[in-house]
Amino acid sequence: MISFNVGPSKIYPQVKDYLAEAYNEHILSISHRSAAFDTISKNTLQLLHEKLNIPPDYTILYTTSATESWEIISQDLVTKASTHFYNGEFGKKWFEYAQYIHPHTQGFAFNEQTELNIDSYPILPDTEVLCFTLNETSTGTQVNPSNIKQAKQKYPNALVAIDTTSCLGGINIDFVAYDIIYGSVQKCFGLPAGLGILIISQKALQKAEKIGIKGRYNSLLRLVEHIQKFQTSFTPNVLGIYLLGKILNDVPNIAETDSTIINRAKEWYSFVEQSPSLKLHIQNPAVRSNTVITIAATEERVTAIKKSAKEAGFELGSGYGKLKNSTFRIANFPALTHDEIADLKSFLQNV
Ligand SMILES: *Cc1c(COP(=O)(O)O)cnc(C)c1O
Repeated sequence: MISFNVGPSKIYPQVKDYLAEAYNEHILSISHRSAAFDTISKNTLQLLHEKLNIPPDYTILYTTSATESWEIISQDLVTKASTHFYNGEFGKKWFEYAQYIHPHTQGFAFNEQTELNIDSYPILPDTEVLCFTLNETSTGTQVNPSNIKQAKQKYPNALVAIDTTSCLGGINIDFVAYDIIYGSVQKCFGLPAGLGILIISQKALQKAEKIGIKGRYNSLLRLVEHIQKFQTSFTPNVLGIYLLGKILNDVPNIAETDSTIINRAKEWYSFVEQSPSLKLHIQNPAVRSNTVITIAATEERVTAIKKSAKEAGFELGSGYGKLKNSTFRIANFPALTHDEIADLKSFLQNV
């Protein structure tokens, strides 16, 4: 069975050997305060910087999930309000988590078929963080970084946070354009779930220091303090950190992965556009995601296609939230091979 699910997703096949290696090398029971752990973690952090082109002055922290980052941002980087722009379920959930912590949080929904234009919204002049879901996994859309850049210019004091959960590791991200970037490993990294990554700029770190919250187990300042020794404030997913280092060592620089993914996305979109029986959910090519392809059909067709795909050995991603019954999704993640994609296309040609 090949998983084209958009998360958890297909894992790299070599993970099987790395799991055995981790067991054989007694990594699974090492202390997270040991030199052995520090070496593994240091290697993973270095490879993240190197392979994803993360600037040296950005701090990389381990979390347990992307969802945890939603709370860390509100708890440690916001005192009154952040501003959220969303066109799908993940962005909306992020807004709701933030609003639970800070009631004055702003949330602006925008149409999934159109580009985000921040000028249309009454943004608080002193908003503390502008929040965007760079790749909205539920709809299969992405925000154009130039629109975020405009927001940053208009609100120079605010931090800019982006949810990159379904594109980090697949798409080249211009980190310097943002202050807070987060995701998790079960999507474009082709790894089992249970590890998140939170990347912050100096400006974000200074804001956290100014606010000075340190009381919770996952307080940003606690995480920052421990990462100086490559560690975390809690017992982390040691195996996940080990596997991430192994996979990062295998993959090319993100610039290369990025061009593969973008080419494959173009091919996917033209394949579906030319298909007599399939329809794209997102009509506007300018906002279509490079990593998540969403296909619309009647509920009956969605059910039938997913079922016959399964019989043919392909796991398709279900629709999400409101789109659960009217769409299915196809991951365009780096761990999928050229041949697997070709096989799925020949299956889809006959549905
Ligand atoms: C999957 C996903 C999440 C949730 O990730 P977890 O690691 O399960 O917390 C959040 N945002 C987006 C855009 C996602 O695709």
